[in-house]
Amino acid sequence: MTGHCAALAVVLSSIDYGESDKIVTFYTLEFGKLKGIAKGAKRSKKRFVNNLEPFSYIKLLFFQKPGRDLVMLEQADIIGRFDSLLTDIDRLAFGSYCLELLNEMTPEGQINQKAFELLLKFLVMLDQGANIRTLVVFFEMRLLSILGYHPHLDMCVVCKKIPDGVNKIFFSSAKSGILCFNCRGQEKSLILASPGAIKFLMLAAKTDVDKADRIAMPDWAAEECKKVMDDFLRYQLGKELKSKRFLDKIQAMGEGQEAIGRTYSP
Ligand SMILES: [Zn+2]
Repeated sequence: MTGHCAALAVVLSSIDYGESDKIVTFYTLEFGKLKGIAKGAKRSKKRFVNNLEPFSYIKLLFFQKPGRDLVMLEQADIIGRFDSLLTDIDRLAFGSYCLELLNEMTPEGQINQKAFELLLKFLVMLDQGANIRTLVVFFEMRLLSILGYHPHLDMCVVCKKIPDGVNKIFFSSAKSGILCFNCRGQEKSLILASPGAIKFLMLAAKTDVDKADRIAMPDWAAEECKKVMDDFLRYQLGKELKSKRFLDKIQAMGEGQEAIGRTYSP
């Protein structure tokens, strides 16, 4: 890729650079993850309007010089905005987390059409008011599956036995899969999960994210899936994401409010 290029892109992050420039990270259909500089984007609003903010879905024109890390952004025309994300703090927090997760898990310049489609469908669903907890588990599992990092959930990773569907299962992030009672060994960081929750994760790995809303995940299963995914992703990334800490705070506040609502409702 050199010279003038065009791409369909979603803005993952945008940071101010110097007096008047912005450095923007995109996920594009044609080039995978891409980083570019928008000269004068802060000073002159004309060329880029406000189209370089996170969540913007744009048609991007840029210029690539050989040997340069950053492409030069030339124009950004808006195709779609996900407006509810800007007025609903829960959706904003979940959306920001998923953008950061995709950003952290993908290298620059590696084309992955499925990952782009997943991101776009996820944002549409999130904007349209889909159940957030289900949607995020589906996004996480689909992303892991598309990128080839999904954990092995259909049988014990040691003895290869298929779980009986009754007894609890042990999930190991270090072994990237499930362990049966006999094979659980001495590992301290195992997560106990119900066969039902593991089935939801397996379903999420192979289901298109735009069908997530058709699946009713009970609260206990959502809670167990979250525990498994949080631990596994922290292990894979080697750190906690910034947006994840914010998200957990928002969720804790939401649950607090719900509890107050339950206590004081007539
Ligand atoms: Zn086993």
